[in-house]
Amino acid sequence: MKVATRTEVGLVREHNEDDLLVDEEQRLFVIADGLGGHVAGEVASRTAVHAAHLAFIESAAADPERALPEALHLAHEAVIEDAAADPGRRGMGTTAVVAKLSPDDRQLWISHVGDSRAYLLRSGQLHRLTADHRVGGGSLTQALGTSGEIEPDTARVDLETADRVLLCTDGLTDMLGDDEIATHLASGEPEQSCDRLVDAAMAHGGIDNVTLVLIEVGTTDA
Ligand code: CA
Repeated sequence: MKVATRTEVGLVREHNEDDLLVDEEQRLFVIADGLGGHVAGEVASRTAVHAAHLAFIESAAADPERALPEALHLAHEAVIEDAAADPGRRGMGTTAVVAKLSPDDRQLWISHVGDSRAYLLRSGQLHRLTADHRVGGGSLTQALGTSGEIEPDTARVDLETADRVLLCTDGLTDMLGDDEIATHLASGEPEQSCDRLVDAAMAHGGIDNVTLVLIEVGTTDA
């Protein structure tokens, strides 16, 4: 496995409300896109990433198919608790995608809430692994912290050597179409590929924070 990440504030926003985590030992990857104004948004995404990570570590012996959505439920509760602690955080929420790669790089589990996404690139073809929790192109139907109950979608994907998995926030996908994502995702080493994706999002306006986690499967750093 090779992993590369980028998170950028973009060209318009003053703050980066996205967050990400890579735990190579647990083979756990998390991204989150905070909502609710800049202070609250930053708190929400950071709280969710941290809580999901801790919850996953505590349940690491469990089947990822159950451990990942459970981690999101605990992250949801953590964001609600943090919001209740400070009036300035009222209404804060966050999307989240959590992904777990098996020790042999053969399987990936993904669970998500909101409109941050996961993609699989295999043999040059881009496949979307998540469906946005959005009404049409409009508001989110669920987010950690703001929904009464959340219902994470969880999927298992069988992987092949050299597959690339991309986790990304909507600052990327609102700027770039699938063809452009596929082109940059396929090009160069994972680090270069991340740079090209972010550069392209900026070239298209960079109106939102952009966060990426790119995992290349079944390869090792020399
Ligand atoms: Ca965003």
